[in-house]
Amino acid sequence: MKRLLSLLITLAVLGVGLILSLTLFFVGKYEFESQVEQQVGHVHQQVRERFRVFDELIANDERELHKRARRALLRLSEVILHENFDPKDWDSERLAQLSKDYGVDAIYIIDRDTRVVATNFLPDMGFQLGTISEAFEQHLKKMFGTGRLEIDRINVSSKTGILQVYAYYAPLNSDYMLEVSYDVKNFLSHSHSSRYVEFLFGDFFTELEKTNPMLEKVDVYLVNNYAAFPFLQNTAPINASDLPSLPEKGVTTVNKENHIVHHYSRADLNRSTLHSAEYLVIRSTFNLTPIYSLMHKFLGISLVIILVVLGIAFFLLSFLFEKWILRRIFRIIAALERSAEGDYADQMISDRKDELGLIADHINSMNRRIAHRDVELREARNTLEHRVEERTRDLQLEVNARKKAEEELIKLASTDPLTRVLNRRAFDQRSREEIERSHRYNRELAIILLDIDHFKQINDQYGHQFGDKVLIDVANLIGPSLRAADCLCRHGGEEFIILLPETDEATALLIAERVRKSIAQHKITDRHDSLSITASFGVAVWRREEGDIQPAVYRADQAMYKAKNSGRNKVVAFTRVIQS
Ligand code: GH3
Ligand code: MG
Ligand code: MG
Repeated sequence: MKRLLSLLITLAVLGVGLILSLTLFFVGKYEFESQVEQQVGHVHQQVRERFRVFDELIANDERELHKRARRALLRLSEVILHENFDPKDWDSERLAQLSKDYGVDAIYIIDRDTRVVATNFLPDMGFQLGTISEAFEQHLKKMFGTGRLEIDRINVSSKTGILQVYAYYAPLNSDYMLEVSYDVKNFLSHSHSSRYVEFLFGDFFTELEKTNPMLEKVDVYLVNNYAAFPFLQNTAPINASDLPSLPEKGVTTVNKENHIVHHYSRADLNRSTLHSAEYLVIRSTFNLTPIYSLMHKFLGISLVIILVVLGIAFFLLSFLFEKWILRRIFRIIAALERSAEGDYADQMISDRKDELGLIADHINSMNRRIAHRDVELREARNTLEHRVEERTRDLQLEVNARKKAEEELIKLASTDPLTRVLNRRAFDQRSREEIERSHRYNRELAIILLDIDHFKQINDQYGHQFGDKVLIDVANLIGPSLRAADCLCRHGGEEFIILLPETDEATALLIAERVRKSIAQHKITDRHDSLSITASFGVAVWRREEGDIQPAVYRADQAMYKAKNSGRNKVVAFTRVIQS
């Protein structure tokens, strides 16, 4: 997460640096290019200004120039084109002398093929003027022998580029034509102060080029149908198609290639005789390569500077962020982790009263409250545990008491309260259990029913209380004669019944007899009285087909009544009752 954040911030720093540098670069470029535009405008304005002055000067002097040309041509015609004229007679030296004499700069003798057959201006010797243009050729050819004299526009020599005014004269019936030319620069320097000439043709452009290192050169072309003549420099003409077409005065176009910028604008000479189809084109060439390479360097340097500044700012900010925010957040996290593990004791120092300081304060007070609650909770738990313990002990005691009471109740419910032997309910319960066991193990089960003889009399004679004592004594007497598995119960009143598991009738008889004897031999004593008692016994056995003990009790009862009837203090078995 931290690494991803650093990467994103680094990318953002790079992006911002790049955008800032490019913005600076393009703003600089725009500024620089508009500066160039301004300079171009300035240069072209100055050039146009010069041509305006030039135009004015020529216009003013044109009449004088034409006068001179006409006079010179007519006189030269008389001197040169007389009856015996032969071009071979007129070499350049002769013509040079004549040109001096008549105040012209060049003299041309032209034949009907428009060829220059003699001249003092050697570069044009043999030049066929018709090659300049077809229209011009036709025009010249029509002039031959007509006696016409024409003064042409200001023009530049197509061979040398020198600015000239040309004048033509075709004497009547002559196969030759005379042409004279005036070097405009010379003409102006003669008729005007040298300051004008200097202003017009001086080293102006070199100066311009010097003051502006990006301005490589300024060219001015006189453009007509067939060529673009360098107007101010003596160099060869170029194809007009190499210049952009500029249909209107003052229009500017710009050509750019590889940091070389050409600005073209058109200027016209209005007042002088320059032909309307001809115009001037000013071309200024700027070489922007050095400034662009400088700007590229600037771009690189500014990028580096911006990146360094942003980098330092980033590291400074991340250092401060780490110190002021991250470390404190980590301290808070560590404190929260300790709290989560139950350690509330450690308190954070809230060094600053800002949002993080407030969070630390709140965590501190929360920890204090939790610690306090913790103690309270522990105390409450201890108290609760103690109470539960006490309550559990009490409950245990209660449960024990209830158990005892229950046992007591059970015992009471199954015991005869007077004699402490089992009661009839318990007898029924025990007899059911013994019948089930005897069934299962195929054992015998016998019972003895005994009834105290003449008990009513004892009650009547000695009182009821004494009677009770008799019952208690009898019960106590019977117990020792029995086995642990045997069961003695009070059957009701002064009757007892004995259950004898795994005992047949004969054995039961023996037991009954032993009990009879022990009762009969016993003396019951009171504070005043002493008495012997007897009891009558009936013995019966349980039969396998019988579901409960009652039929056997009934049989024992019958046997017992038999014993009563036969004199009491006797043991009678039920089988014998049947036999008798
Ligand atoms: P027999 O020899 O024919 O058995 O004569 P008996 O008098 O013993 O028989 P009877 O059934 O006529 O009398 C029994 C008497 O026992 C009647 C009754 O008042 C007395 N009796 C019954 N239960 C108790 C008792 O719990 N205590 C006392 N003291 N007397 C009782
Ligand atoms: Mg009785
Ligand atoms: Mg009785």
